[in-house]
Amino acid sequence: MTESQPNNPPNRKNRLPKKYNNTQSVFDEPDILPGRVGEVVDRDWSCDQCGANLRGLPLETPCRECGFRNWYRPPPPGTESYESWLTQCQQKTHQTTGLVTVVSCAVIGGMFAIITAMVGTSPPGFIATDAPLLAIFFGPLIEESLKVAAMAYVIEVKPYLFKRRSQIFASAAGAAVIFTALENVAYIFFLMRNPSEELILYRWTVCFALHIGCTLIAATGLANVWQRATTEYRQPRIADLFPSLVTAIIIHGVYNAGIIGLQRTYPWLFK
Ligand SMILES: [Zn+2]
Repeated sequence: MTESQPNNPPNRKNRLPKKYNNTQSVFDEPDILPGRVGEVVDRDWSCDQCGANLRGLPLETPCRECGFRNWYRPPPPGTESYESWLTQCQQKTHQTTGLVTVVSCAVIGGMFAIITAMVGTSPPGFIATDAPLLAIFFGPLIEESLKVAAMAYVIEVKPYLFKRRSQIFASAAGAAVIFTALENVAYIFFLMRNPSEELILYRWTVCFALHIGCTLIAATGLANVWQRATTEYRQPRIADLFPSLVTAIIIHGVYNAGIIGLQRTYPWLFK
């Protein structure tokens, strides 16, 4: 019988992500163990359940508002923590990097989302009315998710790449503009045969507003995730994105359903 391989052969270390290069990962080790009696929450720190600020509350005491016992708490001062990691990364990140991140996420989001337009999920088109489930449910679901996917990745893994909250909204709006512009060009010049001027105007106004509006709603959730991570210096909780993302998907789906209804009732409007 041979000895089993050691768990961490030395050459493996080089292949680990940068944040794990140090011996200890502060990313996945929040301060959750008991044993800090008599200390209070010394900074703004939101309750994991209701979001109330726990500042000034003795550690391990249930939340004043909802009674939830928070296991995650600020690390002791001066220790290696997510806070020290994030602060160092923020200091090393140049302002230009923030702008590059905005543009990159906008381009990736716009290009990702255009894939959904190619399968005909955004009315008024000629395929969507025949596939209402696709247009009302799956289209908006995939489209809205893909537009913010790159931003969500950055915010979860490298939140320091965005330098300020407004950059998240700028990136989302950029993704929506790129997406809608490409989609409009595809529809007006390739998919529709001699579209009316009203229809062209409609695509560049109503469709534009709808896409930018929905993406900005989804971006609100992302901005809140980023804000919590970078003001409380704790690991981003990407699940907080979902209420705003779902809202954007529902608005987009309801809009598509309305357009399908109009197309079926008054087909001459869309000629
Ligand atoms: Zn609470």
